[in-house]
Amino acid sequence: MRGMSAQEQDTLTRLRDEITPRGLKYYIETYGCQMNMNDSEKLAGILCAAGFSPAGSKEDADFLLFNTCCVRDHAEKRVFGNIGALKQRKDEQPHFLIGVCGCMMQQEAVAKKLYKRYPFVDLIFGTHQMHELPNMLQRVMSGERVLFNAEPDSNVVEGLPVLRAPGVSTSVSIMFGCNNFCSYCIVPYVRGRERSREPERILKEITDLADSGYSEITLLGQNVNSYGKDIGTTFPELLYAAAKIEGIRRIRFMTSHPKDVSPALIRAMADLPKVCHHIHLPVQSGSDRILRLMNRGYTHQRYLELVAQLRGKVPDIEITTDIIVGFPGETEADFEDTLELVRQVGFSAAFTFMYSPRPGTRAAEMPDQLPQSEKKKRLLTLNELQASQTKKNNEKYIGYVGDILVEGCDTRGAEALAYGKYQNFKMVYFPGHADMIGQYLRVGVKKAQKNSLIGEIIHE
Ligand code: SAM
Ligand code: SF4
Repeated sequence: MRGMSAQEQDTLTRLRDEITPRGLKYYIETYGCQMNMNDSEKLAGILCAAGFSPAGSKEDADFLLFNTCCVRDHAEKRVFGNIGALKQRKDEQPHFLIGVCGCMMQQEAVAKKLYKRYPFVDLIFGTHQMHELPNMLQRVMSGERVLFNAEPDSNVVEGLPVLRAPGVSTSVSIMFGCNNFCSYCIVPYVRGRERSREPERILKEITDLADSGYSEITLLGQNVNSYGKDIGTTFPELLYAAAKIEGIRRIRFMTSHPKDVSPALIRAMADLPKVCHHIHLPVQSGSDRILRLMNRGYTHQRYLELVAQLRGKVPDIEITTDIIVGFPGETEADFEDTLELVRQVGFSAAFTFMYSPRPGTRAAEMPDQLPQSEKKKRLLTLNELQASQTKKNNEKYIGYVGDILVEGCDTRGAEALAYGKYQNFKMVYFPGHADMIGQYLRVGVKKAQKNSLIGEIIHE
């Protein structure tokens, strides 16, 4: 384990008290998954401790930091495009600072390419150098350009300042990295090997969050079900301990790898009223041949058995998933197996992706890469099927009554619609107002829409 060193703490204090000009504002643009969002809250914490304050928009920022993702090509292209578009602003406002960090910048070749191609970018660093931000900022403030890209670190970094989004719902990273090396995935290369945080640290963080008014916590990791293997504990044990924390009403977690879902996890979900009845269980493909090529460690049949076990013990559970279409060598028959699995499971929602070759991964070197047009066609077919499944799943909620946590309020239509999720992740919209955000309300479902439910507050 590693925390911020005394020297780094000192630098932060000096930045805040002596170096950072008063009133400098930052804006962080985050790409990718919830882990990146969670990292951005730490980056924001460090920047605030260094004397910056949050800007309301990109345009208002003196320091614009891009926290990047490299899981798919699309996110990468957007980042390059968005940074390129800032050249003129930098020419006009030389004191405007630009930083780029995160997964994309953890890849040495990509970081160097960006450094060379965009000489107006001031600061570049990878996922493993976040705690070094104070020292990097100090150098940037003295006019230096900084490119800091080092090997993945095997340490768990603790004790960074965090600036959380206000509200009652937040996330806590419980582990970092991944050991699975799914053949298509870049994550293990940019996030390093699996490292679990000590349970005492996690539980203290959740207790502090509960004390400051947060009541819904999402425990985050690339594969939360293998939490603790490296430090002699298990994920279900962490759930039992977290559920004892007063003030916490809902515990969510993601992501769960199907090969690591244990009977103990299913028991914990059934036993613990605070643990939400939702599991995000990425299947990726329904073809055994493709699952083998993907190195996923389960079959179509095994996945169905797992779903049956989950539904057997937790009858109202909702299951969401990730699916990749157009993996190298995927035939029409393989794709049909995926469609069949989608019909068999009845996911409440699915995040669907066209396979995107990632340099350095095994799948990128596999023969029979599919043309983009074929991937697009399959994605459309899959999305159409899932849309009908989502609608069907929504329809079973008509007449349902349960507690939701209000997340927001949409005021664009004729009538303001507040919205929030039932504990099993189903989203419901209902006539309400912005003051309700953060409240738990009892809501009944009147109507099912394509992607959500329409309801009304139930006064009992
Ligand atoms: N750790 C999680 C898991 O095992 O499912 C999720 C990691 S990844 C950030 C989120 C999703 O992106 C994956 O579930 C997968 O469907 C998708 N993904 C990852 N690599 C991809 C690639 N090369 N092309 C397309 N989709 C990809
Ligand atoms: Fe990537 Fe597989 Fe790890 Fe998920 S489990 S992060 S898909 S390697």
